[in-house]
Amino acid sequence: MRLESIDTLVSRALSEIGDPDGAVVPGIQPATTFRRGPDGELIGDFSYRRTSSPTIRAVEGVLNRLDGGEGCLIFSSGMAAINAFFGAQPRGVRVAAPTVMYHGAQDWLHRLDERGDIKLTLFERLDTEGLIEAVAEGCDIAWIESPLNPTWEVFDIAAAAEATHAAGCLLAVDSTVAPPVTTRPLDLGADIVFHSASKYLNGHSDVTAGALITRRADEAWAETEAIRVLLGSAPSPFDAWLLLRGLRTLGVRYRRASESALRFAERAEMIEGVQQVLFPGLASHPHHEIAKRQMTGGFGGMLSVLVDGPDTAVAAAAATGVFTAATSLGGPESLIEHRAPVEGPHSVVPDNLLRLSVGLEGADDLIADFEEAMAAARGRGSR
Ligand SMILES: *Cc1c(COP(=O)(O)O)cnc(C)c1O
Repeated sequence: MRLESIDTLVSRALSEIGDPDGAVVPGIQPATTFRRGPDGELIGDFSYRRTSSPTIRAVEGVLNRLDGGEGCLIFSSGMAAINAFFGAQPRGVRVAAPTVMYHGAQDWLHRLDERGDIKLTLFERLDTEGLIEAVAEGCDIAWIESPLNPTWEVFDIAAAAEATHAAGCLLAVDSTVAPPVTTRPLDLGADIVFHSASKYLNGHSDVTAGALITRRADEAWAETEAIRVLLGSAPSPFDAWLLLRGLRTLGVRYRRASESALRFAERAEMIEGVQQVLFPGLASHPHHEIAKRQMTGGFGGMLSVLVDGPDTAVAAAAATGVFTAATSLGGPESLIEHRAPVEGPHSVVPDNLLRLSVGLEGADDLIADFEEAMAAARGRGSR
């Protein structure tokens, strides 16, 4: 049977995990160790939880099917996954990445570069052409995010894959903001997909986890798994189980957030004190055409607003009532963050940028909240 919808695929993949009692929800297996038979042979597939265990394997099976890979590994955080991925590469590997990207991952790349573990090139032009120029100068791994946090440029993944492969380089895509209900990078030619599962995949702001999905279960992949086992960076079974639960509603959550964010972005452009709204769903966004093609299930709930100064940004983030002032993204509750100070010394993010994660509240309430917060921040409001 060919499934039409990724939501059906999620539902099928979850139900196929199976349960001896026919329970429609898989159980949690918390055991750290697994019994052996009389000759010392393992009874099932598992020996010790640090290596893997049933609940972890269950989530990996679902995520692997969602992204269409040859293997999936989950970790106790997104950064643990990134760490294992780069740790598995040969010393001195040449890595190209954009100047704007998830700051924690970029900090880590800088550290690896300073130690001589990788040779890092950051490219300034934040689009597909910028990537193509960077890899043409010699590269082993290109690491991109699409959309790019927190300015939301979109890379044309198919074109990027073609160019990186022509340059003898692998393409790894951080698709945290575009989960498989909207984009499947491996289908477009990418070699590795990464997700911070702490964000949309879990979607309830109560788990940190990371996932890698690979096109090829090759030697580097086996090394990535060995690093996870030896460092003990698999998530707990309970976190893995919560992730299974969160995945059940991924499609509806993502579509709802996408619709609200689009409505919000269109209205935010008209609010006094707003200079620019960065959101790939807006026709004015420079990569809107690519986004329309590539983000088939919605543009997501992430957008940024450039306001008329850093003071306005700080005051507006402090004045909201529906948006919560906090970092992270992809949860049910909408979040607002004055981003630059959070990112630290390497950041090139403008200091008048507010990053918003639109959640599941009513879009009109979110718009009214932000509008009032902006008015208050600019000294004309009544709040
Ligand atoms: C949060 C995030 C990460 C890091 O993941 P953690 O789960 O916080 O370790 C990486 N990339 C992007 C785009 C993120 O938003």
